[in-house]
Amino acid sequence: CGVFGIFGTEVEAAKLTYFGLFALQHRGQESAGIASFQEGTFFGHKGMGLVSQVFDEDILQHLPGSIAVGHTRYSTTGTSRVSNAQPVIVETARGKLALAHNGNLVNTLQLRDHLVQEGLNLETTTDSELIAHRIAQEVNQDKSWPEAAIAACQDCQGAFSLVLGTAQGLMGIRDPHGIRPLVIGTLPSKGQQGEQQYALSSETCGLDIIGATYLRDVLPGELVWIDQQGIQSQLWAAAANPKLCIFEMIYFARPDSHMHEESLYSYRLRLGKYLAQESQVEADLVIAVPDSGVPAAIGFSQASGIPYAEGLIKNRYVGRTFIQPTQTMREQGIRMKLNPLPDVLSGKRVILIDDSIVRGTTSRKIVKALREAGATEVHMRISSPPVNHPCFYGIDTDSQDHLIAATKSVEEIARQIDVDTLYYLSWEGMLAATGENPDHFCSACFTGDYPIAIPEPLKRSKLM
Ligand code: 5GP
Ligand code: SF4
Ligand code: MG
Repeated sequence: CGVFGIFGTEVEAAKLTYFGLFALQHRGQESAGIASFQEGTFFGHKGMGLVSQVFDEDILQHLPGSIAVGHTRYSTTGTSRVSNAQPVIVETARGKLALAHNGNLVNTLQLRDHLVQEGLNLETTTDSELIAHRIAQEVNQDKSWPEAAIAACQDCQGAFSLVLGTAQGLMGIRDPHGIRPLVIGTLPSKGQQGEQQYALSSETCGLDIIGATYLRDVLPGELVWIDQQGIQSQLWAAAANPKLCIFEMIYFARPDSHMHEESLYSYRLRLGKYLAQESQVEADLVIAVPDSGVPAAIGFSQASGIPYAEGLIKNRYVGRTFIQPTQTMREQGIRMKLNPLPDVLSGKRVILIDDSIVRGTTSRKIVKALREAGATEVHMRISSPPVNHPCFYGIDTDSQDHLIAATKSVEEIARQIDVDTLYYLSWEGMLAATGENPDHFCSACFTGDYPIAIPEPLKRSKLM
C-alpha cells in the first residue's frame, strides 16, 4: 500500500495528497481514499479503483483543510471491497482519527479477539482498523494523540508504517523494524511567519511530485507528531532493529525513489552488474521484462558489454498483473500487457532479465513469446535469489505452495519456463549491492528467516 499525509499552513492539503497518491499508485491499485481536516471538521472520500478513477476536481473541492491523509490499497489482509478502503476513520473523544496503514500485522487474531471481548463492533476485515480502535481507546482515556498511538503500537506486532490525521495534527509512525518505508518532506510556505509545511510519504517519489524537499526517513520505532509548533519526534520502541524489506529495493518501490541516499534505479543497475559478474553467458542481446527488469538489464549490459535492446513493448495501461485477484485474470493480464518485437529478436541469442520470479507464470509466457518472435536462445537472469517463502509483512507473494522456487530446483524451473539457462543473483550479491549492513534488511522471502516471529495459526495459513 501507499500512505501519504500533509500538514500545511495553507489549504488544499487534499489536492497535494491526491498528487502524492498518484505518485504512489504502483503501491496499490485496488482502492484509494483521502481524509481532510479543516478547523476541526472532518471530510473524507474513498472508492474502488485507481486514484484518478476515485477522485475528480469536484470531489477534491469538497475535501477542504490544511491537514490530509491518503492511502492507495493493495489487499494483503481482508477482502477487496470499499468498506476495507483506507484511510480507516474512527470516532474518538477528541474527534475523528484517520489512519492509513502500509504493512501487515502478524498478531491480528489476538488483537481482534481482545477488542471483540471488550465489546467493540468491527466494521472491516483489516488489521488496520484494529490499530485505529486501539488508539481511540487510549485517546478516550485522556492520553495525547502521540501517547495514545504509542500505547496502541506497543500492542502491535508486524509491519506498520502509519500516517494518521487528526484535527490537531499529523502523525507518522514506523514499527521497530521499519519493514515498510516512510519519509518526511518539507514544503516551502507562503505564510508570513514562514511556518513549515510537511509531507509524509511511503516513498520519496511522492515528495518529488508535489515539489517537497526530502528531510529524512521516519526511523524504525519512531513517531513524529506535526502540528502548529512544528515537528516532534519520539523513539517509542524499546529496541529498534532495522529490517527494511529488501523486496522494496529490488522490485516494489519506484526506481526514482531514494533509499539509503541513492535512487533505487542506481541500486538495481548495480544488481544487474553483479548478476553479469556472477553468471557469464554468450549472447547477442540483453533485454528486460519491462518495466521492473529494465535497470538491472542496463547494468547487466554495461558490465558484460553485450548490447541492451528493447525486445518487449509494454502496454502501460494494464495494471500490474500480479495484483489481479485470480490466476485466470492474471494469465489474461499478461497477454494484454507485453508484445515482443520480432525484428529485434529474430535469429538472436537473448539474455532476458527480470527482477524476480514468483509463481513463474509471467516468465513462462514471456519466454514463449520471445521464441515465437524468433529468438534462437533464451538465457534468463534474475536480479534476486529464488523466492521460496511467503511474506507475512505486507507484500502479496502468495502462499508457499504457489511459489515456484519453493518446490522446484533451479534446473526444474528452467525446464518449466522453457529457458536454455537460468541463473538467480546470489543472496550475498543482492545484499552487498546495497552498500549497507546486510543485517539491516528483511530477506525472509529468500531465506525463511523471519525477523518478526510468525504465530503458528498464521504460519499454517501460508507455509507448506
Ligand atoms: P512470475 O514469472 O513469477 O509470474 O512473475 C514475475 C514478475 O512479477 C516479475 O516481473 C516481477 O516484477 C513481478 N512481481 C514480483 N513480485 C511481485 C509482487 O509482489 N507484486 C507484483 N505486482 N508483481 C510482482
Ligand atoms: Fe520484504 Fe520478503 Fe521480508 Fe516480505 S519477507 S518484508 S517481501 S523481504
Ligand atoms: Mg515485473
